[in-house]
Amino acid sequence: MKKEALLAESRDPAFRDLILKTPVGEKIPTCMQCGICAGSCPVSHEMDYTPRELVRMVQLGLKQEVLNSNTIWICTTCFSCSVRCPRGIRPTELIEALRPIAIAEGVKNKNARFDSIFSGVVGKNGRASEFLLISKYSLKEPEMIKQVPFGLSLFAKGKLPLSIDKMEDTQELKAIFKMAGKKQEGESKEKEKTQEIPQPQEGAEK
Ligand code: SF4
Ligand code: SF4
Repeated sequence: MKKEALLAESRDPAFRDLILKTPVGEKIPTCMQCGICAGSCPVSHEMDYTPRELVRMVQLGLKQEVLNSNTIWICTTCFSCSVRCPRGIRPTELIEALRPIAIAEGVKNKNARFDSIFSGVVGKNGRASEFLLISKYSLKEPEMIKQVPFGLSLFAKGKLPLSIDKMEDTQELKAIFKMAGKKQEGESKEKEKTQEIPQPQEGAEK
């Protein structure tokens, strides 16, 4: 994939410092760009930026590029990169930390939308339903119209059941989702506080 040159002007040191201060960011400055994480990643070919590039972009404070990349949504959290990094950097956890920041920043792309729909379906039913996922996602993504013939062929072969295979008891699962939502909300508020721009004091020198 041809990538655009990333400009020095788009660096945001506050974003970099925010990430580096977290437990997951501690070792990021030690990344030696060996690429073991990218070589271990089963889905890097689908990503805008590989995990190696993402770590480098965080080092540089390229906030917008990081938060708008599809990398943070494509990641399957398989942990291969985190297990194999010779410097003990944990790209999986970095990505998990970046997702709520992207949501709090109002990043909207098709991968973020799919993630939100997937979480909604699983949170409600306890299991993923291909039919619900595809139908809900199609309402949000007009491009999905191109997939109609494929969807119909799956349906004709019985591969797209309309019935939803629900978990019997979803109470505990709902409690987990509620707790995760509260944690995410708390993290976003904390982040807003950290990023608050101090206002000049009255009478202070300009
Ligand atoms: S494996 Fe670790 S040190 Fe190597 S590029 Fe990835 S994050 Fe950096
Ligand atoms: S955890 Fe994510 S980024 Fe790391 S190897 Fe797996 S899919 Fe790739």
